[in-house]
Amino acid sequence: MSELQAIAGIRLRSIEDGCRQLADILELQAPVAPKVLIAALQSEEYARNLLICRRTPVFLATLLANPVGSPPQEAGSGKGTLELMKEASGALARWGTVGFSVVDDEVLEQRLGACLACPNLRSSGSAANALHKLMKTRASCALCGCDVEKKARMSSERCPGEDPQLTGHNRWGQPLSVA
Ligand code: SF4
Repeated sequence: MSELQAIAGIRLRSIEDGCRQLADILELQAPVAPKVLIAALQSEEYARNLLICRRTPVFLATLLANPVGSPPQEAGSGKGTLELMKEASGALARWGTVGFSVVDDEVLEQRLGACLACPNLRSSGSAANALHKLMKTRASCALCGCDVEKKARMSSERCPGEDPQLTGHNRWGQPLSVA
């Protein structure tokens, strides 16, 4: 298993436990900050940069002090930070099983279009009314807590919302019966 897959495979018993697991992977003495853990689980690029820089203390310190991203804090999701982090961790682990592959542009556009039209979309901005704006705006799914722009790119991901117009399918057009 690669170290990137090790990060993707972090299983959270608690936030503190996840911070310790990531510190072990990065060969750090002290647990990383929760924001660093969240960023590493949500962003493959950030996780990869941590691994690349782990033996370059100056660069690593900069990355640790400036974690990208943060967990969605959307009203109405009803989920706590730990639960959202577990789901982000699970999504990254699933993505690792398919080699971190991404969908093609056509599928990405179809998925993001469905999210834009979905009542479960929660946006931190007011401009989520076009694809190019959605891709620049943090927007998350209230059902799973995921950043939809990232989630939609992952070939391993599924939409958790049932399509009211297409029986037996979710809003991304995937059959509900498939695990
Ligand atoms: S339920 Fe599906 S379509 Fe709606 S925001 Fe979530 S992932 Fe997107």
